[in-house]
Amino acid sequence: MADTGGNSWEEKDMANVFHGFTDFPSLKENGPVVLTHGEGIHVFDVHGKRYLDANSGLWNNVAGFNHTGIVEALCAQAQRFPGYHSFFGRIADVTVELSERLISLSPFDSGKVYYTNSGSEANDTMVKMLWMINRRKGMPERRKIITRINAYHGVTVATASMTAKPYNSEFGLPLPGFLRADCPHFWRFGLEEETEDAFTARMARNLRDLIEREGPETIAGMFAEPVQGAGGVIPPSKGYFDAIRPILREYDIPLIADEVICGFGRMGTMWGSDYYGIEPDAIIASKCITAGYYPMGAVILGAKLAAELEEASEAAEEFPHGFTAAGSPLGSAVALKALDVLETEGLIDNVRSLTPHFLERLSRFGDHPHTGEVRGVGFMGAIEMVADRKTKAPFDSKLRVSERIANKALEKGLICRPLGAAVVLAPPFIITNAETDTMFDLLEETVADVFAEIG
Ligand code: PMP
Repeated sequence: MADTGGNSWEEKDMANVFHGFTDFPSLKENGPVVLTHGEGIHVFDVHGKRYLDANSGLWNNVAGFNHTGIVEALCAQAQRFPGYHSFFGRIADVTVELSERLISLSPFDSGKVYYTNSGSEANDTMVKMLWMINRRKGMPERRKIITRINAYHGVTVATASMTAKPYNSEFGLPLPGFLRADCPHFWRFGLEEETEDAFTARMARNLRDLIEREGPETIAGMFAEPVQGAGGVIPPSKGYFDAIRPILREYDIPLIADEVICGFGRMGTMWGSDYYGIEPDAIIASKCITAGYYPMGAVILGAKLAAELEEASEAAEEFPHGFTAAGSPLGSAVALKALDVLETEGLIDNVRSLTPHFLERLSRFGDHPHTGEVRGVGFMGAIEMVADRKTKAPFDSKLRVSERIANKALEKGLICRPLGAAVVLAPPFIITNAETDTMFDLLEETVADVFAEIG
């Protein structure tokens, strides 16, 4: 950490900021990274050091860190009409325009958009929507929510209950009524001698058993990320969604696709649901909707849920829920421009055309003696490190292998993310092939250095 006489940015941060989702031993040892600006896929700290951000911020800064067009759209809207709410049937014109655009981009022929400020709020809102619909339909007991092991759906009390991470026990969560289905990660959870097809069939069978055990009449919905992101980039086993979809239909359980990471092109398709042919009943969107330039989340309801919610709200006279700053004109103008950039500036095309090179470079880590699994789809990749490749036994957590890799990478000017035993890469959509090579060269060097240190 730079010593500037007791007044450095880092010291000011340490004195005044409380960081969530931050590895405290690393923070104490290395201090924070205080940033001033970005250019393309790089960000710069207060000392002028440049970092290639291989995680697009938090999966969201996909158009780079200084996209002039998006900034201009933000400024133009700020001049015209910067802030308004969407309660009491009032709304900014640009927000109406954005809603039309989102429905046309969605997999639904028609539907409705409800705005929030974040992915957590959107998932939380969806839960309340399901609860209200069911109560008004005379089924108040239909409240349980199914998510899957390794799921990440947010940090509010309800969405932390949906997020199947061990750290949520720190808060005494999950609340009752939040159920866990299996994680369809074949490499980690497949049984010895079990084929991937048999594994997928077992995942579906177990889901049916869970529904039967709990009582289908008590279950409000199932939420699933097309590819589990913060769980460590886990694509589903082959045929997984095709296998579970009919079961949910049979029991009339809505399937909500949490597209907070996968949505808007991360996998080379507009939605992860398109990639796997999921046919969800609603979509949860956030992150790339504004390319990371403005907080925004959205629940995009398909026609059936939209009609049911409207009916319930009419009976109750309103949907008694809303966030002051949600659906703001500034956010809407930014989102409209970001969607233009994704579609017309060819960002999603770039993901599609560069994915083979990204995945090929990723796959080279498969030769490392401590790589358990390399997995990826589109511009999301993970390298899971293990102590023993045969048994898949993880390293002793005290060794902090993935944190060490991320810390060492940072020294070299590369931002990558430790997620459990995996190191995760999710570059901005504007990355070039040459920058992809730089990113992987830096990571290869980093991994070699860390294993040389560990011995
Ligand atoms: N759902 C998924 C799939 C996510 O990855 C995240 C955040 N990473 C969220 C929900 C929560 O979004 P937010 O951090 O905006 O609340």
